[in-house]
Amino acid sequence: TLPDPALGAAVKAADRAHVFHSWSAQGLIDPLAVAGAEGSYFWDFEGNRYLDFSSQLVNTNIGHQHPRVVAAIQEQAARLCTFAPGFAVEPRSEAARLIAGRTPGDLNRIFFTNGGAEAVENAVRMARLHTGRPKVLSAYRSYHGATAAAIHLTGDPRRWPNDSGAAGVVHFWAPFLYRSPFHAETEEQECERALRHLEDTVVFEGPATVAAIVLETVPGTAGIMVPPDGYLAGVREICDRYGIVFVLDEVMAGFGRTGRWFAADHWGVVPDLMTFAKGVNSGYVPLGGVAISDEIAATFEKRPYPGGLTYSGHPLACASAVATITTMAEEGIVENAARIGADVLGPGLRELAERHPAVGEVRGLGVFWALELVRDRTTREPLVPYNAAGEDNAPMAALAAACRAAGLWPFVNMNRIHVVPPCTVTDSEAKDGLALLDEALTVADRHTA
Ligand code: PLP
Repeated sequence: TLPDPALGAAVKAADRAHVFHSWSAQGLIDPLAVAGAEGSYFWDFEGNRYLDFSSQLVNTNIGHQHPRVVAAIQEQAARLCTFAPGFAVEPRSEAARLIAGRTPGDLNRIFFTNGGAEAVENAVRMARLHTGRPKVLSAYRSYHGATAAAIHLTGDPRRWPNDSGAAGVVHFWAPFLYRSPFHAETEEQECERALRHLEDTVVFEGPATVAAIVLETVPGTAGIMVPPDGYLAGVREICDRYGIVFVLDEVMAGFGRTGRWFAADHWGVVPDLMTFAKGVNSGYVPLGGVAISDEIAATFEKRPYPGGLTYSGHPLACASAVATITTMAEEGIVENAARIGADVLGPGLRELAERHPAVGEVRGLGVFWALELVRDRTTREPLVPYNAAGEDNAPMAALAAACRAAGLWPFVNMNRIHVVPPCTVTDSEAKDGLALLDEALTVADRHTA
């Protein structure tokens, strides 16, 4: 497409006049007007092209505008655009069959939602009804969505202005060795102490009051902390010991992001409920869901499930999921994510860390990486304070601006840059992105001791 600044200006003007944006002070934002996208790139109306190292909100796992997914949506639109969830329709049946065929263990039933938060919402509802217990435990370093239960489960500061104080959620510390809440020095210590802390939390809350423990398999927005080996198995044991439903939130980590279909596959752990969204169809049409174990499904075999959505299992969304999953399998896209992580991004980011004093830690797997930026590698003082805004956040804002000016679109959260390109990213695109990041990081280095 040719640049068209006049159209871009009109798009921007209508946006500024009438679109109310998520998470924003409406008068303080300046959204980029986007003209198009393909694969790992998108471009604006001025003709500037950006390498999408954010996958938007870490959802375009198959890249932008994959022709097979676009065609599947077009074909489904011509056949049957919408139908109520009470009917059996082909794309919904097929999407459920394909998803259940890949989820771990006996997660054989799929309840479809329009996105991740609704998936979490329904997982919590199922856990409470299944156990007859009120409370849910989740990690401080977490993001689970913006609807009522999901935002209360969320640990990050976006919960604060939403907190009713009466949601029945108790937060605990999950393992994170670099900023260990347990003053641990090794992953083994961190794992053992985190499990002891979680079990203590359960015991002191009263196990008979706890319906569920909800965890991101690999926490995403909160910082991509890959759990130590043994942690998730340990949580599984605690859940079994106290009759608690184990919910893994794979909304961000699922569908190839970590180099496996699900992050849980790295550790062979089987939760009772697993939430998904984003990568299931790369967000081409809104879709999420809960994969449900046979035992929890049995609770609702004779007793009605008191939850539903007009668009549960929407045909266009499900058709795009069928095409996405089939294409990812046939084109080896999950394997590509694993290989790019092991051969290009992991080694490349570690090499950047050696040369840039602002990089305190590199962590991740697949196409799911975080750079933890610091002022001082010894004290590990973050480049900007927790939940910084305005002037306090200027170093991170400058770094993000430097990336964008160089043609790299980053995912930035607090004192971190997340390197989260599509699972389809090529070797040369990944290397180009690393080179652009290398240059931009000099902006962060200026703030180091
Ligand atoms: N859970 C996790 C782990 C997420 O990363 C997100 C979104 O980033 C959500 C839930 C919420 O998903 P949605 O924004 O589709 O409601």
